[in-house]
Amino acid sequence: MKGTVLYGPGDVRFEERPEPKIALPTDAVIRMAVTCVCGSDLWPYRGLQPINGPTPMGHEYCGFVEEVGSAVKSVKPGDFVVGSFATSDNTCPHCQYGYQSSCVGREFMSTAQAPYLRVPLADGTLVKTPDGVPSDDLFPSLLATSDVLGTGWFAADAANVKPGSTVVVVGDGAVGLLGVLSAKQMGAERIVAMSRHEARQNLAREFGATDIVTERGAEGVTRIKEITKGIGADSVLECVGTSESMAQAIEATRPGGFVSYVGVPHGVELKGEDLFGTHVHLHGGPAPVRRFLPELISLVMNKKINPGRVFDLVLPLEQVADGYRAMDERRAIKALLRP
Ligand SMILES: [Zn+2]
Repeated sequence: MKGTVLYGPGDVRFEERPEPKIALPTDAVIRMAVTCVCGSDLWPYRGLQPINGPTPMGHEYCGFVEEVGSAVKSVKPGDFVVGSFATSDNTCPHCQYGYQSSCVGREFMSTAQAPYLRVPLADGTLVKTPDGVPSDDLFPSLLATSDVLGTGWFAADAANVKPGSTVVVVGDGAVGLLGVLSAKQMGAERIVAMSRHEARQNLAREFGATDIVTERGAEGVTRIKEITKGIGADSVLECVGTSESMAQAIEATRPGGFVSYVGVPHGVELKGEDLFGTHVHLHGGPAPVRRFLPELISLVMNKKINPGRVFDLVLPLEQVADGYRAMDERRAIKALLRP
């Protein structure tokens, strides 16, 4: 089969790769229904995160179980499944606490931009859709639950979004936009999306944003303070991962409020003295998507949410390099790939 490999900055190739096989009794192999390019894939693509030689890419997936190892009990060939970018046994203490992305057996998926995928710890990682194989118009939204929605949802959950909350979302990438959708689902009353990009502002409004702030940095914080009558937001979702976005998030939060951070940090440094005076709660990290998958899959299957709207570019899998380019140039929010 052919799969996606990153060779260096701007150099994505679709080339011959070994076909995945069952290596351990707890593995499954799935045939991809759809896959996609993640905002986090752009860090190494832009040369901002070093790679050690040619690196297979992709960690968002949903599809049909092809084959399972002898120990796998919960899924069987033909099932339609979604899994997280982090594998989990779903039984260890960290999993029991709901932090499956810190599972003692965790592996990060990295070969999903391909037609077939080996999934370790299949029983704990994969969730099958209820009532058999879903119709294919739901594939993009089911794919979104695998990471980008699961991460936006965790951002809202970790920022303690509740009915009536005032929420600010920093970052208008797909995760930020789905953070808006998640906050809306959790009952937030006011949702401010920080974005200066018209198409993304429109999608943010469609997902439930009540206000758009185009200013950034200190000016952006001033605008949030104006909107919140000088108080600051109850919950701020930091969905970028830079020093500037983190500072902006913390400063926009009211004393006692919550900042979640789900953007992979690049050069973020926090000063203890600055943090001390703010009284904010900080909670973030790689999203434990597995915790939320059953609920998110059900919301998609019942057509309560349509997170697949973030895919504004659809390409055949072999044109994966065009998907990276379009996202890098911000011509596309998120590229869906069809094997
Ligand atoms: Zn575990």
